[in-house]
Amino acid sequence: MNWRATQRATPLIACALVCAACLAGASLARGATLEDCQSLRKHGHRPEAQKCYESLTASRDPYLRAEGFWGTEMYQEANNQFRIATDASPMNAMIRVRWGRLMHERFNNTEADNLFGEALQRDPKNAQAYYGLALVSADGFDSKAIEYTSKAIELDPKLYEAHELMASLLLEDSDQAKAFEEADAALKISPEALDAMAIHAAIEALTDRSPDAWLDKIRQVNASYGEGYALVAYHLVLNRRYQDGISFYRKAIEADPRLWSARSQLGINLMRLGQEDEPRKQLELCYENGFRNEETVNSLRLLDSYKNFVTLKDGDTILRLNKKEADLLRPYFEAEMKRIISTYNKKYKMTLPSPVQVEVYPDHEDFAVRTMGMPGLGALGVTFGLVIAMDSPSGRPPGEFHWASTLWHEMSHVYILTATNFRVPRWFTEGLAVHEETEVSPEWGDRITPDIVVAIREKKLLPVAELDRGFIRPEYPNQVIVSYYQAGRICDYIKERWGADKLLDMVHSYADLKTTPDVIRADLGMAPEDFDKQFLEWLDKDVGKTVANFDVWRTKLKDLAGQAKSKNYDEVLKEGEEVRRLYPDYIYPANPYEFMAEADLAKNDKPAAVAILTSYEKIGGHNPPALKQLASLEEELGKPADAAATLDRLNYIYPVDEELHHRLGDLWFAQNNFPGAIREYNAVIAMSPIDKASAQFNVARAYFAAGQKDKAEDHVLESLEVAPDYRPAQKLLLQLKDSNEGK
Ligand SMILES: [Zn+2]
Repeated sequence: MNWRATQRATPLIACALVCAACLAGASLARGATLEDCQSLRKHGHRPEAQKCYESLTASRDPYLRAEGFWGTEMYQEANNQFRIATDASPMNAMIRVRWGRLMHERFNNTEADNLFGEALQRDPKNAQAYYGLALVSADGFDSKAIEYTSKAIELDPKLYEAHELMASLLLEDSDQAKAFEEADAALKISPEALDAMAIHAAIEALTDRSPDAWLDKIRQVNASYGEGYALVAYHLVLNRRYQDGISFYRKAIEADPRLWSARSQLGINLMRLGQEDEPRKQLELCYENGFRNEETVNSLRLLDSYKNFVTLKDGDTILRLNKKEADLLRPYFEAEMKRIISTYNKKYKMTLPSPVQVEVYPDHEDFAVRTMGMPGLGALGVTFGLVIAMDSPSGRPPGEFHWASTLWHEMSHVYILTATNFRVPRWFTEGLAVHEETEVSPEWGDRITPDIVVAIREKKLLPVAELDRGFIRPEYPNQVIVSYYQAGRICDYIKERWGADKLLDMVHSYADLKTTPDVIRADLGMAPEDFDKQFLEWLDKDVGKTVANFDVWRTKLKDLAGQAKSKNYDEVLKEGEEVRRLYPDYIYPANPYEFMAEADLAKNDKPAAVAILTSYEKIGGHNPPALKQLASLEEELGKPADAAATLDRLNYIYPVDEELHHRLGDLWFAQNNFPGAIREYNAVIAMSPIDKASAQFNVARAYFAAGQKDKAEDHVLESLEVAPDYRPAQKLLLQLKDSNEGK
């Protein structure tokens, strides 16, 4: 208790010493320097700082006027004055650097980048310009951020802000030890390096120790430094600890109610947890106060678009679907969610504390808003605790994406994040989620792509202890994809060698806050380096041939595509077989399976076409036209059950297809699978077909066959309402009446 009191007492004195300027009070305004203003602000003396900056706006020097307007939040005027200042001193690099910093602060990274570049043309050794470039790159998780920061430190080892930024970047990469060192390096240069203190606080918070001592130190220098709390919040959110991040963002705006960046993040993260009212309030406040960065504006737009969505609650599931596709998607999504929950409850030996909410976005841009400011863009789904946001199958070209696979993936995150209380490294939860995709069905999940084959060949896979880096800050294009693959295969390997329960042991070890090297040692009984070696040997047995064959495969595939184009079918069949053997997992566009099926059909060998398309289906081929063709052939060859199974697979890939539901409904009706036929015929209705009468009639006859006469009657009447003379419906209505009288 006393200790705290003493701690609090010191800063006032220290502060007064540091900013003698503020003691001078109002008399300061005249003759204040930019440094005075910056010092006042740094120590949280807001009204004095405001006055100080105001006094600068009357300076004769346009550059100082620019700083003055910037300091008083008159950004447009500041921008004008910077322009005048650079016109007056075209060779001055520093003015451009400051202008760039203003641009960066005001959400214009393109202009900021240009200005830092121009500064470097004038002064190639300008450390501040490199620091500015680093700030811009850091916003996009660009690997250049580290390079630029290193350069800034190299040019000016005393630039403590660059050490602070480096510490933050290293912490993003989960390298706590090095982040700690860099934060200390900054504090050695300046004992008032507030962000360095915040990084220390973040490290404490991430490892579940108390960050209070560091937060106290920040308050001693500047009681209203909300940025410190916001930096801690940022790192918590990046580690998926949304609730903890939110409470730090709250502290940030408590310390500084005008810290719009933190207020905006508070709103965005509350949205991620499924809230609407408070986010709207917070984001609107930001917007009204001129804080209109992309994330704020797009999040407000997304909140507005929620009026186009329906929320469907059913026990332990909440589905938020766009009204235009809710009727179509609901049965498929709801059934799949239930199936996942019952599977994972058993598998992970736990239940979720409350219902899971799945939001399905037909407009990819709406979904992208949910992932803004997070690494790994281009994802299909994202999990925030008990809320999942994902693309709708209708939001992507048919066949590009297996929505059910994505749902199993994201739901795995929900369980693992819950089980570990969000203390799990990215690689492990991603690996497990990828692993689950093929556990549901070997036909699901993604197959090894050429990019991954090349990465393996070039020995670019990361050691398991450093695998997180491949997700956050990719060093080559597609490293994120390669890392997903590697993490997934690591989990496949662990399951195959040690059993599925070993994966669960690892989940529990992470929940106990063990690091990856410790988890590998404790649960798998080996050093991480040995694990890497043995994993690569195992992987090589599986894909080594494909990797070794890659160049030959590429040449032969090109030739095969040429033969297919020239309709040389005998060649296609001969070469296709070889190309397929060289790289059997290649099911992406221009694959040997589809070329060969085309050749078989040209030669009228339907059984052969069925055989090759079945191989394609079994190895994970997802192209809807190819699978529909397979179904037609199976039907022609008298295998209606196979045809129905093939079409049903498409429901998990691209259900936005009226013809698919119609055909599958007919097949199942003929096979006496009435519940299946009901679902499929209802899907036809959900797609607003042109022929409403026969669509309603089909549902009616399926309900009738299933013994649900009331529903049958409803639909038959709907059919007759559209087409009163429709004979089959009239007949069914009579049958219904007869059967009712009979009973
Ligand atoms: Zn994932």
